[in-house]
This record gives sequence, C-alpha cells and structure tokens, in this order.
Amino acid sequence: MHEIASTNLVDRFNRRIDYVRLSVTDRCDFRCTYCMAEDMTFLPRRQVLTLEELARIARVFVGLGVAKLRVTGGEPLVRRDVTALFQQLGQLEGLRELAVTTNGSQLTQYAPALRAAGVTSLNISLDTLDSQRFRALTRVGKLDQVLAGIEAARAQEFSRIRLNAVILRGSNEQDILPLLDYAVSRGLDIAFIEEMPLGQVNLAGKPLEFVASDSILQTISEHHDLQMESAPEHGGPARYWRVDNGPSRLGLISPHSNNFCASCNRLRVTAEGQLLLCLGNEHAISLRDLLRDGASDEELGGAIRKALNDKPEQHVFAQPDQPQIMRFMNASGG
Ligand code: SAM
Ligand code: SF4
Repeated sequence: MHEIASTNLVDRFNRRIDYVRLSVTDRCDFRCTYCMAEDMTFLPRRQVLTLEELARIARVFVGLGVAKLRVTGGEPLVRRDVTALFQQLGQLEGLRELAVTTNGSQLTQYAPALRAAGVTSLNISLDTLDSQRFRALTRVGKLDQVLAGIEAARAQEFSRIRLNAVILRGSNEQDILPLLDYAVSRGLDIAFIEEMPLGQVNLAGKPLEFVASDSILQTISEHHDLQMESAPEHGGPARYWRVDNGPSRLGLISPHSNNFCASCNRLRVTAEGQLLLCLGNEHAISLRDLLRDGASDEELGGAIRKALNDKPEQHVFAQPDQPQIMRFMNASGG
C-alpha cells in the first residue's frame, strides 16, 4: 500500500501529476507568427535529448505513476526516426494515453505508423481554412498539405482527434465559424486557444493580440447549440461544450480569462531535457544533465519528486503588470 502512495507524484498543493508533455525537438517546418520569430536559431543537436534519453525519461515518469504522455515540439514529426520513439513509448506498461500535438504537415506519411505504434490521440493545429491566411500565419506552411494530413489521420482509428486554433485579432477571427463547421462535419473536436505571450514575436516586441475565449463562445453560440460538459477532463485547461448534440466538442483554452492552475496535473520536458514545473514560470531542473552525469532511474525519479516541491501555485502571465516569460513556445512544447 505504501508503495502506491510513494510512486505517485503529488505536489505541495495536493495536485496529482499524471500527465507529462515531452518536447522532442525545438525545430519546425513552419514559423507561426505567434510561436516563433521568422529567423530562428535552433539548438545545437548535442544539446537536444537523444531518442534513447527521451524514452528513458518517459519510462521513469510512467514508473512514477504518469498515465498520459503527449509528444510535442517544435514539430515532433520532423524529428528523424521519431517513429522508433513512439514504438518504445507505446509499449510502456501503465501508460493509458499516448498523444501527439502536430501541425499536420507530415501526417500523410506518419499517421498509420503513429497509430500502429500505439498513439491514441492527436491534436492537429489549424488556424484557418483560407490558404493565403494560412500562409501568412505560418509564414511557410501549405494548407493543402495539412488538410490532407487531417484526412490521413481520420482514416486511422485514433480514439480522438482535436483541432487546435489560435485566434488573433485582425488576423483570423473570420475563421472561427468555418473552422468549427469543418470540425463538426467530420466529427472532430476543436479547441480555440488564447494566445500566450511566451516569446518576443513581433517587431514591436509585444505579444500579438489574443481574442478572449468568451467572445469566441459568444460568436459560436449565436449559430450552434452548445451543451457544457460538467466535468472538465481530468484537470485539463480546456472547458468543453458538446456541439449540436453531435460527436464534436468545442474546447476553450483560456490562460488569460480562466485560471486553471488549481487543477494543473502536468509537467513539461523541453527538447533540451529541462523539466518545467509551470509554463508561466521559470522553475526548472535539467534532467539531461542528470542523465549525462550517469544518474540511475531511481536518482532521476528522486530528482523529479524533489523538483515538484518547486511547482508554483499558479502561473504569472495572466497579470498584465508582471514580467513576461521570454521563452518561445516551440522550446517549451506548448
Ligand atoms: N508544432 C506542433 C503544432 O503546431 O501543433 C506542436 C507544437 S505547438 C508549440 C503546440 C500548440 O501550441 C499549437 O497548437 C500552437 O498553436 C500552440 N501555440 C504556439 N504558440 C502559442 C502561443 N503563443 N499562444 C498559444 N498557443 C500557442
Ligand atoms: Fe511550428 Fe507548431 Fe510553433 Fe507553428 S505552433 S511554428 S507549427 S511549433
């Protein structure tokens, strides 16, 4: 019995951590305006965790009681040989959900291999259905490639596919309803995410303009019947509504207007192996340094448990007068 209590990750605020987001690369084939600078310098390869190190970290977390892993990036599917990593993760005993967040550009190639490796769910980013606006938002992406990727994913039996859209004032507000209709007509979920100010991404050095979730909700509710789901999915930051009594759900992720820290159940590991305790704070420890200094699995687990003591009660970027955390989203994994 004592064994069970000591293998679960619980922080000072009694939050049980059962979800880890693992960034497998900081690189990407897109340059979304809200995520990256146009001219990015990426990490030297030796600073990035190897696939073996990533698999080991995942194994240690699952051994500590983590039941859900999300592989993200940068764009996870541009990492060479990433399928081998998914195959290892898919076999971890105790893991209930293996998820991927992707921009969809490589899914025509990878969707079958991901499913075969045991990936259970996908989040696919899609901010507009207009090819010109898509090009403007991603700077280099091709909409057709992503739409084909979504179809390739639908052809596999993932338990859940959710589209993710970041809506920016003066940029893609007109896409809210077409994106929702696109998702609903395919039985997919869709989440609208408020932009978070994580990196200096425009010339003026200010975050771009986010559109508040409540205003998105208002727009959608004028055209669709929305039933709020009572229990938000195990402490996740999204609030969900069933759309028109069908299979699709609308999710709203609102770091500005809805503080979800009290139910935070997650940790993040960056591509460099930094364990981030909170997206909106700088607290971190280097799992890579521990690994490369020869730490055993037990020592790694002990360091993770100790680091949990530093998990802050809440993030700080919701308050406009606080200093912003200058970390690009592709580095922290979103
Ligand atoms: N490349 C993959 C993708 O785009 O889905 C995975 C990594 S990306 C950093 C993960 C998610 O973070 C995407 O849905 C993206 O739209 C979102 N994102 C990136 N920058 C953001 C920001 N500043 N605010 C809110 N969401 C952001
Ligand atoms: Fe790449 Fe995803 Fe960031 Fe866009 S949001 S630049 S696709 S990592």
